[in-house]
Amino acid sequence: MQNIGYLEISPTSLEFLKEQAIDWALSHGLIIRSNSNFSSTVVHAPISLFPSPFPKKEFELALELQPIFNLLFHKLSRDHELIEKVVGELINVDDFIQKLYNIYLTVRKEGITQQISLGLHRSDYILHMTPNSTDAHIQQVEFNTISSSFSSLSTLTSELHKYLLESTKYFDVSPALKIDALPTNEAMTNLPRGIAKAHQLYGSKNTAVLMVVQPAERNAFDQRWIEYILMNNYKIHLIRKTLFEIQRDGKLDKDTKTLIIDNKEICVVYFRSGYGPNDYPTEKEWDARLLIERSKAIKCPTVAYQLVGAKKIQQVLAIPGVLEKYISNPSDITKLRSCFTGLYPLDSSPEGEAAAKLALEHPERFVMKPQREGGGNNIYTKDIPQLLRRITPLERSSYILMDLIQPPMMKNIVIREGKVIQGEMISELGIYGVFIGSNNGDEDVVINEIGGHLLRTKGKETNEGGVATGYSVIDSPLLI
Ligand code: ADP
Ligand code: MG
Ligand code: MG
Repeated sequence: MQNIGYLEISPTSLEFLKEQAIDWALSHGLIIRSNSNFSSTVVHAPISLFPSPFPKKEFELALELQPIFNLLFHKLSRDHELIEKVVGELINVDDFIQKLYNIYLTVRKEGITQQISLGLHRSDYILHMTPNSTDAHIQQVEFNTISSSFSSLSTLTSELHKYLLESTKYFDVSPALKIDALPTNEAMTNLPRGIAKAHQLYGSKNTAVLMVVQPAERNAFDQRWIEYILMNNYKIHLIRKTLFEIQRDGKLDKDTKTLIIDNKEICVVYFRSGYGPNDYPTEKEWDARLLIERSKAIKCPTVAYQLVGAKKIQQVLAIPGVLEKYISNPSDITKLRSCFTGLYPLDSSPEGEAAAKLALEHPERFVMKPQREGGGNNIYTKDIPQLLRRITPLERSSYILMDLIQPPMMKNIVIREGKVIQGEMISELGIYGVFIGSNNGDEDVVINEIGGHLLRTKGKETNEGGVATGYSVIDSPLLI
């Protein structure tokens, strides 16, 4: 990867750049809640000072893949046989997946009252350097069907970098820093637009959107922007509630299955919580999830969509012949496959046994993943053998094994809570997808769009990603 001289910036220029960036961030809502004085104090979001170089060709490929993935996941969410087979095998080893699956089965048996579903997805990639080559290609990390965050803060970071370039010329540290190498990023408005379209399709005007939130969310402003844009651009009211509050304040109309919260009809339920076991500390939260799933509100996502976002499904999709069941265009299949890295089951099948053996022999080549979201759950390289030896073969089947993607390093300078950190970094590109489909037939695609992008950057020694979890910062791509 082209090395860009960001680190050669003088200490005075760096200090100035940092002040400019922090003030811009605080002025424009590129912020998160502070750890102390939680309710009234904010801090700038963790951000990079410079945009990070990213190959234009690979960026464009990631954009091109998005509508194909959007449609694929819609089809997967409707494939009961697949869900029954793949998820059905996980329920004996994963209580959380089992709870979701039970809701899926219950509502399926009762009859689905809302045929329309809204997907606000994000497909994540890391560039992989082919050994002995200078070429880097995107490899998919995962496809998120629930609570894909940072669409608003990502757009703001793209704008911050444009502002810094235009106002300071970045002190001419690199000729690569040009305004037309910074792609526009409309994620901030595209996600609310998808929600507004779902609101329109729901059919009754006097309704509100429900955002399901976590009780102590630090990343509240990324979410608030969605709420404010819905109000400003579409005059749509959004209510924020935790699963506990929904269980307490919500009810269903017995006959119409209309979801009512605080006497208001809910048209769309958008989940920014509910993706992990911690979001369901008691049965009350599970009751709320069932209440929502039973309702005729449009869900973003449905439980089916959440289930097919499982890492196990990603591994199944990589098995030769599986993509062909869902996609007819061979060139689309080739494109998708080109971004799949090695994915292996860890169950008791011959393939699973072979993968477990390989992981014990060469742990440095792999990452082991449970069926979890939100960061901090994976087991990397040297930690794999110990875990593999500790768990039973049955427990092993709740994980998948994946090749470790080896990204090129580049140098950048980032700031976290006012502190400057510089050094070798690696980036992860996310592409948002906006999809509205109906469950009636094959052609019921109302919207299938690219929603914008997110670049997250972290120190090269960090395995995990995740801005909220404190591993990475929000960045923007400099297309080279
Ligand atoms: P989650 O759903 O918790 O976000 P991910 O699959 O995205 O789980 O993994 C979390 C982080 O771990 C990613 O953001 C990425 O930084 C790192 N990671 C995951 N898979 C790989 C891989 N195959 N190679 C290298 N890094 C990976
Ligand atoms: Mg995820
Ligand atoms: Mg992830």
